[in-house]
Amino acid sequence: MAMFEKILIANRGEIALRILRACRELGIRTVAVHSVADAEAKYVKLADESVCIGPPPSALSYLNIPAIISAAEVTDAEAIHPGYGFLSENADFAERTEKSGFVFIGPRPETIRLMGDKVSAKNAMKATGVPCVPGSEGALPEDPKEITKIARAIGYPVIIKAAGGGGGRGMRVVHTEAALINAVTMTRSEAGAAFGNSVVYMEKYLEDPRHIEIQVLADSFKNAVWLGERDCSIQRRHQKVIEEAPAPLINRRLITRIGERCAEACKKIGYRGVGTFEFLYEKGEFYFIEMNTRVQVEHPVTELTAGVDIVQAQIRVAAGEKLWLRQRDIELRGHAIECRINAEDPFKGTPSPGKITNWHPPGGPGIRVDSHVYTGYTVPPHYDSMIGKLIAYGDTREQAIRRMRIALSEMMVDGIKTNIPLHQDLMLDERFMKGGTNIHYLEEKLAAREESNRK
Ligand code: ADP
Repeated sequence: MAMFEKILIANRGEIALRILRACRELGIRTVAVHSVADAEAKYVKLADESVCIGPPPSALSYLNIPAIISAAEVTDAEAIHPGYGFLSENADFAERTEKSGFVFIGPRPETIRLMGDKVSAKNAMKATGVPCVPGSEGALPEDPKEITKIARAIGYPVIIKAAGGGGGRGMRVVHTEAALINAVTMTRSEAGAAFGNSVVYMEKYLEDPRHIEIQVLADSFKNAVWLGERDCSIQRRHQKVIEEAPAPLINRRLITRIGERCAEACKKIGYRGVGTFEFLYEKGEFYFIEMNTRVQVEHPVTELTAGVDIVQAQIRVAAGEKLWLRQRDIELRGHAIECRINAEDPFKGTPSPGKITNWHPPGGPGIRVDSHVYTGYTVPPHYDSMIGKLIAYGDTREQAIRRMRIALSEMMVDGIKTNIPLHQDLMLDERFMKGGTNIHYLEEKLAAREESNRK
């Protein structure tokens, strides 16, 4: 099948630029869609064509399905790349895209729907032999007595999670039976309001886990490979802050076994495109929590260690190309770390939008900067606070950390606050340097800092 001639990029910011670069390398023309707030962004001007799809609020622009589909029609694009966030995991959007005669760069709508509901995703994974966190058999019933019984069987602490949740929202930890029913009721009503789906389920709350995920790549012919793992345990409010590949201090045989399971699962469910199986890892065991059916923010650490351009691969399989890689062709080499650079107060985490008066990105051996910003760019207050990603690669984890420290010290962003000082702290943190910190480590570190500031 022939490669696409023109792709519409239904996203903004650094990922829009990343997709644009992949398209240019593949010789594909691009259409950037943008809100009024992003009209002046340079990456919009780099695209061959651009279409304004609405006012600044995402609900009226980047989530506006009819506006995006008509932009594809007007510009005669063949395919739509959804990036991450926004409509990337919206099965209705994927369906509307295909029904309108365009290729959706991602899995089939049915797969997105299956994985978008965490209850059905877990059931599908259990059926393919992927290990899951112990929990309720599907959705929680209405009857409080039944709910209490389920929690007792699992054992406290438990976590109540929204089937339709995402972005770290729609979760509540419960430590005692006294707090259980109220927590379920609250999570239900929040989930209904936020995700339009009030179904909740229960899992054992793991107290000392790491977040380890497996990157997969599959074509439309049931061929699938896994491209190694990422450790994304440095989190704040369930949001990733630092990601790295490979995951330090985990036995390679264990990782290989779970990676192979994921590739197998892709073949069994007929998965197409790139995707990520997210796991919690505790005491030598992996527990599936969810699958992301799109490219992820942290894909560069895998690109650097596996030597595969994930965004180009995603486009190639969407165009119908048969997988050109076998598992044995994939050799994982070196170590990569990514720091998400956010426009926010480094320790409080409150957003800090505004005009960047001076932007000086670092460089040198092993340094990659994925960012759409520049001196004079104004960070709009309407969207996510991430303004770019700084990625360091080295032969070893130690070298990657050293390079990251140098890069952070060279990087200048004036006019707004960023979390660079937090990253600098972490790159000198004893426990981080050892590797293998759990998902609570950063929160605990920040709480301790807060405490000592008060004294
Ligand atoms: P989201 O789709 O909102 O990202 P996930 O299911 O991927 O939700 O969970 C996000 C994060 O929440 C995980 O990385 C982990 O930090 C925490 N978490 C989720 N489930 C559990 C659990 N059973 N035990 C402990 N922590 C959990």
